[in-house]
Amino acid sequence: MNCYPSLTADTPEQSAEYFRLASKMLVSNNLTLNAINFCLFYAYVTGRDPQLTKRLGQILESDSSLTEDMATSLLEQYICQGNQAKLEDLSQDFLQIVVRMMNSLVRLAEKTSKSSQRMEVCADQLSNIEQLDAALPIIETVISETRQLSNQTLNLQADLNSAQSEIVSLKDQVTQAQQEASIDMLTGLLNRRGMSQILESFFTNVEESHPQLCLLMADIDHFKAINDRYGHLTGDKVLSRIARILVQQIKGSDSAIRYGGEEFIVLLPETKLSNALIVAENIRNGIGKLVLKQSNTREIMSKITISLGVACYKRDESIESLIDRADKAMYRAKGRGRNKTVLAE
Ligand code: GH3
Ligand code: MG
Ligand code: MG
Repeated sequence: MNCYPSLTADTPEQSAEYFRLASKMLVSNNLTLNAINFCLFYAYVTGRDPQLTKRLGQILESDSSLTEDMATSLLEQYICQGNQAKLEDLSQDFLQIVVRMMNSLVRLAEKTSKSSQRMEVCADQLSNIEQLDAALPIIETVISETRQLSNQTLNLQADLNSAQSEIVSLKDQVTQAQQEASIDMLTGLLNRRGMSQILESFFTNVEESHPQLCLLMADIDHFKAINDRYGHLTGDKVLSRIARILVQQIKGSDSAIRYGGEEFIVLLPETKLSNALIVAENIRNGIGKLVLKQSNTREIMSKITISLGVACYKRDESIESLIDRADKAMYRAKGRGRNKTVLAE
């Protein structure tokens, strides 16, 4: 499950339109045309992140203006999500594109107005001409002006096209940065940040809809011993393999999260306790059946097992309490000899 409404690849025409709308909004709100404001309003006009749209909409409607600090914090929160290095790169790139586009437009506007003045002079001269011979040099001037103008327009078009394709590619990078910020690189599962985003939307509606949510907390048994015996790299492979089993055992709006080193959480929305226990047992049995080989020696590794705690959301409890109950149940599974699923109190 993707936790962020991604900025899918727009066509160059759409990008150009968003670019135009974003610039217009910046001007109409008296905001500086800088990279951060630009990224923010670009995302805003696409309307793909309802939370960003709502937040920025509130700020624009209120009397307070959008300060530089507010814009930076919105960009970090909704777009780059903590990925500072990426944020700075993207800002620089966006800035260059904007500056280039503005320069092209200014150049064209200047040249066009000079050119149109010259054209007007030619038109005046032509209307006073009585002999064809005298008209020829003026017509030549008009032709040459028109040619220059169309060359300038072509150059501008080329500039705009290349800026548009750069925007598309930068937008892909923004999407990637967003995903990287919420995905655990080793296992490909969501990380804690990704989980928070899912839970945030769950808790936004919780008072009206009283939805069901079960949470599994899973921790690999004696994982330290696996690392010690087979090496850290093999340990990493075990983590990836276990992540795959989690993904295989969930469906639809369920999500699997790497919560810590060798701890995982599975979120099962719209799931009742009896079904959550079945998912937990399927995961435990799936892992128990794994036959893994040590990376270098191909030696068959000893069995991997996992302990699980299962908790279902109780009305009015906090997310911390839900996680804590699942965690305590998981520790009881450890206490009872590991490789077990225990229901939370
Ligand atoms: P228990 O059954 O009580 O959970 O024992 P355990 O050994 O699994 O638990 P412990 O907390 O003692 O050790 C967890 C180990 O997980 C220690 C740490 O080195 C290892 N670990 C954490 N993150 C990673 C990782 O990303 N890769 C590898 N290979 N090991 C990791
Ligand atoms: Mg642990
Ligand atoms: Mg462990």
